[in-house]
Amino acid sequence: MGNGHIYVALGSNQGPRAEHLRSALHELEERGDIRVLRCSSLHETAPVGGPAGQRDYLNAVAELQTALSPRDLLARLQQIEQRHGRRRTVRNGPRTLDLDLLLYDDEVIDEPDLTVPHPRMWTRSFVMEPLREVCEPGWLDGLARATRAGRLRSEYFQLRQEQ
Ligand code: ADP
Ligand code: MG
Repeated sequence: MGNGHIYVALGSNQGPRAEHLRSALHELEERGDIRVLRCSSLHETAPVGGPAGQRDYLNAVAELQTALSPRDLLARLQQIEQRHGRRRTVRNGPRTLDLDLLLYDDEVIDEPDLTVPHPRMWTRSFVMEPLREVCEPGWLDGLARATRAGRLRSEYFQLRQEQ
C-alpha cells in the first residue's frame, strides 16, 4: 500500500492524553488507506515554550505506510486533530492532540503550510527519542546529513543571489 518511511509525531497535554494518542492511531487506519506499521512507546516530557503552567506532554512517533500524498496526509492529520477538539489559540499552547508530519521518505517540501522534514524535529528530544525507537538508525543518519547539506546549499545560493 504505497510508500513507507513515513513518520508522524503524536503529542497531547490536555484531557486523557494516552487515550487521545491511542484513538488517533485507530482513526489513522479507519479509512483503509493508511496503515500504522509501528508506534514507539509513550514518552512523558516537559512542555517546550508556550504559556507557563502547562501539563507535561505524552509524545510518541508512529511509522505509517500510505499512498496518500504528503499534502493529503497532512489534511487527514488535521481532520483528526479537529475531531479531538483541537483549538489553535496560543502559540505552543496546550493541545488535546498534535499530529505533525516529520518525514515522508526522503522528500523535501518547503511550502508555507508544509515543511518536510519537519524543521524543528532534529533538536527536539521529545521527537528524536521516540523516532529512534521506530526508525532504522542508518537511514535516519543519512537523511539528517542530506537535510543539513541541502539546507546549507540553499542558504549558500541565497547569499550568492543577494550579493
Ligand atoms: P506546532 O505543531 O508547530 O506546535 P500547529 O500544530 O498549530 O503547531 O501547526 C501549525 C501549522 O504548521 C499548521 O497549520 C501546518 O500547516 C504547519 N505545518 C508545516 N509543516 C508541517 C508539518 N510537517 N507537519 C504538520 N504541520 C505542519
Ligand atoms: Mg502540529
